[in-house]
Amino acid sequence: MSRFLSARYSDIEPYTPGEQPKSTAQLIKLNTNESPFPPSPNVIKALNESEISKLNLYSDPDTKDVVDALSKTLGVSPSQIMMGNGSDEILAFTFQAFCDREHQPCFADITYGFYPVFASIFGLQPEIIPLREDFTICAEDYFNKNKTIFIANPNAPTGLSLSLSDIKNILQHNKDNIVLIDEAYVDFGGETALPLINKYDNLIVCRTFSKSRNLAGARLGFAVSNEQVINDLCKMKFSFNPYNINRLSIIAGREAALDTEYFNFCVEKIIKAREKTVSELKKRGFFILDSKTNFIFARHPDISGENFYNALREKNILVRHFGNERIKDFVRITIGSDEQMDKLIIAADEILKENKK
Ligand SMILES: *Cc1c(COP(=O)(O)O)cnc(C)c1O
Repeated sequence: MSRFLSARYSDIEPYTPGEQPKSTAQLIKLNTNESPFPPSPNVIKALNESEISKLNLYSDPDTKDVVDALSKTLGVSPSQIMMGNGSDEILAFTFQAFCDREHQPCFADITYGFYPVFASIFGLQPEIIPLREDFTICAEDYFNKNKTIFIANPNAPTGLSLSLSDIKNILQHNKDNIVLIDEAYVDFGGETALPLINKYDNLIVCRTFSKSRNLAGARLGFAVSNEQVINDLCKMKFSFNPYNINRLSIIAGREAALDTEYFNFCVEKIIKAREKTVSELKKRGFFILDSKTNFIFARHPDISGENFYNALREKNILVRHFGNERIKDFVRITIGSDEQMDKLIIAADEILKENKK
């Protein structure tokens, strides 16, 4: 720390991203929930020399091309969508716009690790609501909080999903407060809250192109809400970084949003690979939470989460382990290609043989 850093940031514990190794040549990377598949072929075609040669010009601050494509795909008006530099930026703007001393943020003890970081960088005191013993969310715990509520649905890193009727109940019981539903993983089997957008003016749905649209590196996320709330978020964006989406990402997002066929193909492949991986690991004695995402959260009675993580790492398979006491027995495994999953199963077999109790 330099002697110049503002005192208000001296205690901030930044978010720790999953490792992004320089060379992934022989590494099987199952640690950050990226897609194993390339972006839509239409994305690759559209990012041509003619578009690259326009990089001397600023990008469209209204990101119209990608907003219009999403509007078509999702069936909401363009005025109900705002793009972020990743959904992380949407989250940041939401904390900034809708949290203060009278409206502290509120979220689960085990959820996306960025929520507590945003709370701390904006000087807020979040209320942390523990998940139930079985890691599910109890909707009643979120009733009448008079706080700004953040719920990842499906949740990370558990992979568990909350029903639409539970979400509806939470919205109903917090009519004077914003409820953000983070749907980063919804395309892999969750129930979206999008149909509630026009019924509840306190709802923000947050989505990303990073997982189900194969564009983590393009940094594209978006908020869907009513026009007034979107205007509030735009106020944050235009007071911070009006050109938050670069030219090439706007084009990539447009093409990815429009290519429904390729999107469905990739999502179905991931879901199939997930179901197969779950069934193979369960045969080997793993306990796995019911995942509606592109990752699984698994533990085995014979080996600790940390040891399993390290043993996989020695076999060049990178997964994620969290130190938090409640979940330290688990590892989070991203669902990759069929070949990657086959290798994971072989590695698990070898490791379990060496650790037999
Ligand atoms: C991955 C993830 C995000 C962030 O995604 P971006 O790459 O910033 O769009 C947000 N929320 C959850 C729950 C995630 O897992």
